[in-house]
Amino acid sequence: MRYAVLGTGMVGRTVAARLNSLGHDVVMGTRDPEATADRDEFAAWRAGERGAAGVGLAGFAEATLHGETLVNATAGKASVAILTKAGAAHLHGRILIDVANPLDYSHGFPPTLQPVNDDSLGERIQRTFPGLRVVKTLNTMNCRIMVDPARVPGEHTVFLSGEDPEAKAEVRALLHAFGWPEASVLDLGGIETARGAEMLLPVWLRLMGALGHTDFNFHVQGARRGSTGLVPGADA
Ligand code: NAP
Repeated sequence: MRYAVLGTGMVGRTVAARLNSLGHDVVMGTRDPEATADRDEFAAWRAGERGAAGVGLAGFAEATLHGETLVNATAGKASVAILTKAGAAHLHGRILIDVANPLDYSHGFPPTLQPVNDDSLGERIQRTFPGLRVVKTLNTMNCRIMVDPARVPGEHTVFLSGEDPEAKAEVRALLHAFGWPEASVLDLGGIETARGAEMLLPVWLRLMGALGHTDFNFHVQGARRGSTGLVPGADA
């Protein structure tokens, strides 16, 4: 499949290399492809990480045109503007896997969330581009775990939020290819539920501070239907 991974930070690079090593045709999007290719960090990644050498690099709009499925790995404050430049017409009907978080660093570290509580980045993207099939997922963990869940021992959870069942099924299949077992994938519901997934970030950041590393993840005990009888909404 042809993927566009929008974003050349740690997340974009990690996801793009993994997709390429799974056999997908991947182009990453960035503001200035030449400047990005010249960055030491980017060049070192291209030369050293498995799957990275085969990943293309283009402007955000060009990369978007390449992708049948898009991954939003851009800074949350810039995501809507980046997609706007790509052009709503080009987004129509495509799946957008939204792994971004709307982190606001304007008051320093730790960042706050903007939007928060009664809105989310996932919803903002879906509202702005109604033809795009947004699936929020993977935003609640470090990027190395996104594509290699075995880094964290035992069972742990990845959330899905989105309006389109077929899009969610495709993203679920990709999660399986990344190594996520079916029992780990927890569908929260429509895109409104992205608020919950994004609002885990303040907790995640404090956990990182307390633990001193990023190789951890959330695990929802009792998520499997009927396993405890306490699953909200599950049939008795
Ligand atoms: P990042 O530094 O948050 O974002 C990098 C990307 O955003 C780059 O492609 C950059 O463009 C683009 N960008 C930044 N500011 C921009 C602006 N003003 N206008 C246009 N483009 C702009 O990178 P990251 O750490 O890889 O994170 C990517 C996303 O994933 C974020 O939303 C983050 O919250 C989320 N996330 C991160 C992790 C993690 O493990 N780090 C885990 C879960 C979720 P250029 O390519 O042109 O520089």
